Amino acid sequence: MTFAVDIVQWRTVADFKKHVSTIALPSFIPNTPVDGVVVHHTWKPTLADWRGETTMNGMLNYYKRLGWNAAPHLFIAIGSPNIANDGIWQMTPLTTKGIHAGDCNNTKWGIEVVGNYDIAPWSDALRPVVYDVVAELMKKANARSISLRNLRGHRECGSTKTCPGKMIDMDVVRNDVQSILFPTVEIVSRNSSIIAPARCTQSEAVAYLSNRNGWYTHDELKNIIVPAYFEYGAITGVDPCVAIAQLIHETGYLTSWWSNRPRRNPAGIGVTGQTSATKPPASDLQNWAYNEQTKRWHKGLSFQTWKDVAIPAHMARLLGYAIPPQKMTAQQQEFVQKHTASRPIPSRVQGCAPTLAGLEGTWAFPGKGYADKLSIHANNIIRMS
Ligand SMILES: [Zn+2]
Repeated sequence: MTFAVDIVQWRTVADFKKHVSTIALPSFIPNTPVDGVVVHHTWKPTLADWRGETTMNGMLNYYKRLGWNAAPHLFIAIGSPNIANDGIWQMTPLTTKGIHAGDCNNTKWGIEVVGNYDIAPWSDALRPVVYDVVAELMKKANARSISLRNLRGHRECGSTKTCPGKMIDMDVVRNDVQSILFPTVEIVSRNSSIIAPARCTQSEAVAYLSNRNGWYTHDELKNIIVPAYFEYGAITGVDPCVAIAQLIHETGYLTSWWSNRPRRNPAGIGVTGQTSATKPPASDLQNWAYNEQTKRWHKGLSFQTWKDVAIPAHMARLLGYAIPPQKMTAQQQEFVQKHTASRPIPSRVQGCAPTLAGLEGTWAFPGKGYADKLSIHANNIIRMS
């Protein structure tokens, strides 16, 4: 019986990655490609015992005496007495089924971390190498996230051993590898442009808005409000995701009095905080709304519909803050003029906000932190997918 062995040393993770790039994703049992990794510790040999190829051959003979025909795939030694013996060592080729963890052998590579991790955790030099090797193999296995399904300690494969060591918390390992492979990318920040292609999808925005109980039904969000933002986003160039983030912030997820029918004000447009006990003159009445609860008139704009008036007014306003008139296309200029007619944008703020940060102290006053709040909403919308 031949033993599946090919002892190779890679001194660096970069060299190991080069090797991984040359192999195809194997299947150790029919029709089931390898999906992940089992992590072990050698317990013995310890790092102090490690002599590189000599130790590898010693272990190979040990496995042969056990009657095995394969071994774990990799041994990672970092911090041994001679740095020339450090690195990532292969015993059984990654393309061949190894023996290391019972049923887990069928679908997973086996990685032995050299040392006894019942008594100490991985060192700061060792840990990143283990993580990088695991992450590289996870990439090869086309992992889309890291979970118990694809990354296990030996003790999580039905073994009664403490392997890969009492000091190794596999939940932390999974979490760390997850963040290496799938870092939470901040897509929108205070320095992001307001003028941009949509950074989220309509369904993400609907899902995020539907999380809260606002004045509007899921169908109204899905069929009227969100599609209108995207439609006018295409016309104005304003990222509808940013506008919806602002809608959410300004209206408390469409729960504010101003956002309810019949006002439909998406972003405090014309809302100054002024109130009046007496009815304003007819010439100014369109700039006020009566509140049954406060029994007062409140200054601010109301809109007949979301699709044809409110949302265009919101998008036109954002556009006018983002780009000065002289830099707009004719189509943009026309859109802004038409939809800000009832409340023209003051010249001092025209073009003040190429990025979200520019809305601070202008759209929002004093507005400190306003751009960050919009960014958080935008990113949370994006992560609804
Ligand atoms: Zn083990």
